[in-house]
Amino acid sequence: AAPEAAFDTKITRRRTRPVKVGDVTIGGSAPVVVQSMINEDTLDVEAAVAAIQRLHEQGCEIVRVTVPSMAHARALADIRTRLLQDYQPVPLVADVHHNGMKIALEVAKHVDKVRINPGLYVFEKPTSDRTEYTPEEFAKIGTKIRETLEPLVISLRDQGKAMRIGVNHGSLAERMLFTYGDTPEGMVESALEFIRICESLEFYNLVISLKASRVPVMLAAYRLMVHRMDELGMDYPLHLGVTEAGDGDYGRIKSTAGIATLLAAGIGDTIRVSLTEAPEKEIPVCYSILQALGLRKTMVEYVACPSCGRTLFNLEDVLHKVRSATSHLTGLDIAVMGCIVNGPGEMADADYGYVGKQAGAIALYRGREEIKRVPEAQGVEELINLIKADGRWVDP
Ligand code: SF4
Repeated sequence: AAPEAAFDTKITRRRTRPVKVGDVTIGGSAPVVVQSMINEDTLDVEAAVAAIQRLHEQGCEIVRVTVPSMAHARALADIRTRLLQDYQPVPLVADVHHNGMKIALEVAKHVDKVRINPGLYVFEKPTSDRTEYTPEEFAKIGTKIRETLEPLVISLRDQGKAMRIGVNHGSLAERMLFTYGDTPEGMVESALEFIRICESLEFYNLVISLKASRVPVMLAAYRLMVHRMDELGMDYPLHLGVTEAGDGDYGRIKSTAGIATLLAAGIGDTIRVSLTEAPEKEIPVCYSILQALGLRKTMVEYVACPSCGRTLFNLEDVLHKVRSATSHLTGLDIAVMGCIVNGPGEMADADYGYVGKQAGAIALYRGREEIKRVPEAQGVEELINLIKADGRWVDP
């Protein structure tokens, strides 16, 4: 018999603990959170504030910045103040490196979450003649990492803030590479080492990521992480992303292949699509992934046939017109079909349908019911009238 899950048409998400980042929650029963990162130098407070606001207005719910120096960390205080004065609070995350632990402690005062990369906590110089680390050497470095990390963990814990343990496949520490290889296992063990340090200090506001630029590596790392966390009784939320995905169609498809595959299996609580384009362009991709999987509905769902020899009007044109007129009506499903050869069920139970009927005429549907036939030239206008008559219209 088929497993019960095979009949599910809704994704059941892995149970995770809720982690607060400002007023946004990652994990728990919260919807999957969309985030991105600004490119601006945070020393340029004006430009950084404008970029954060731009992203937030696009629907980016958490914004990340990098803080390469103490001056950058201090600038975050001004950025935060400016956002509060001129706009609204935006949950902020700062990326920091181990050699800037003072920087991390400073920035932790001004942001809601700090992201650290375990691969950058290296206390060993890469050596060409070394081929392994003894367990003693391995543990000794672990102790140094713990001592280094402790003040930041305590600061975040005491302020009720969060930390992302963000492992990258491309920057694993040498001792992890030698011990576990350049593998998902090495990535997972890196994350677990840092989680254990945090837990020993009673800090649990953690989000974990295991990014890679190769989708199969990224998939394996997250799946293994979930497996290990389940074994260990850990329920930390996961931040999903494919690094260095590039740009254009392929960058979007590559990100979607990684992120959506995991989301469909119920894995993932926040996502970032990394594109080599303006960060604002990442946000619609995130929301499209979430909508396609039925995890969040933030726009009109258009159902449209690809058109064929039976098509009775220019489907591409009509879909474009219908979209321009209705794309602000969040929550509706609208179908545009060249004909209704296989019955109204083909419209996937859309709320409204615009269907080719005969040359020069189209039919409008409400659900599966044909409401009226109108000349094609009035099709879009009549569709709007029908939505208005049903009280489901709002002005753009
Ligand atoms: Fe062709 Fe009709 Fe199918 Fe559209 S719905 S692809 S027009 S058969």
